[in-house]
Amino acid sequence: MPKTIHSMTVEAVVLRHSEWGEADRLLVLFTRETGKLRAVAKGVRKLLSRKAGHLQPFTRVKVQAAHGRDFWIITQAETVEAYLPLREDLLRVAYATYVIELIDRFTYDEGASPFLYQLLVDTLERVSSLPDPFIAVRYYEIHLLDLVGFRPELFRCVECGAAVQAEDQYFDALMGGIICPRCVDHFTAARPITVGALKFLRHLQRSTFKVAARANPSGTERAEMESLLNHFITYLLERRMNSPHFLHEVRHNQYKAGEKPAQS
Ligand SMILES: [Zn+2]
Repeated sequence: MPKTIHSMTVEAVVLRHSEWGEADRLLVLFTRETGKLRAVAKGVRKLLSRKAGHLQPFTRVKVQAAHGRDFWIITQAETVEAYLPLREDLLRVAYATYVIELIDRFTYDEGASPFLYQLLVDTLERVSSLPDPFIAVRYYEIHLLDLVGFRPELFRCVECGAAVQAEDQYFDALMGGIICPRCVDHFTAARPITVGALKFLRHLQRSTFKVAARANPSGTERAEMESLLNHFITYLLERRMNSPHFLHEVRHNQYKAGEKPAQS
C-alpha cells in the first residue's frame, strides 16, 4: 500500500473510465471542488464490487479519495444522482455523451470550476428530464464557451464594433463573433446567420435557463443555431488540439514568471 499523504471528499460527474491493470479502473472525473481529476478505483472490475455501480459514466457521485504515491485512489463512492431516465432513451444518451465529451475536451486539470460544474449537472438533469432537450444543450454550449473563455460576440460586429442591426449577419469563427454585412467582404470564411436564429442565440447567452427555456425557434432556426455552434466549437477544438499541452505549458510558465498571459 502506498503511504497516504492526503485525502479528500469531492462531488463529481464521471466523464469516462478505462481499464487499469488486472482489476482496476482509471476514472476521469469532473469535480466541483478541484475541476478535472484522474483517480484509480481499485478492484471495481471484480465481480460484485460495491463501488462499481456508482462509478459509471454520467453518474453524479460523492467520492472519497486518498492520494497515493502517484495517483488519487478512490476509497469510497456513493451515487448522488444516477440520471436513470437518461439511460433508457437512445437520444438522451447521445445528448449526454455529447455534453460529457464537450466538457472533457474543453478543460484541462486546471482547478476548481464551480460554475462549470453546476452547468454540467444542471444540463444532465435537463437532458434526463425535459421532453425536448434541444434548448438545454444549446444553452449548455453557449454558457460553456463563456466559462472556458471563448464567449462568442453576438451583440457587436467584431470588426467595426457597431451594434448588430436587425438584419441577416455573418459569423466568423477565427474572429469569434458576428461580422456585419458592411464588413463581411474582408472575411471570406464568415458564414451567414439569419437575424431570427441570431436572436435566439443572443437570448440564450444573456438569459437564465428558466427564461431561455421558453424560447420556441422554428425548425430552420434550430438547424441554424445548432450548425453555427457546431462550426465554432469544431473550429476551437481543432485549433486547440494542434498543441494543447504546449499552449498550457506556455501559459503556466508565464503565470509562474508573474507575466500576464499574452492575448491572442
Ligand atoms: Zn462591421
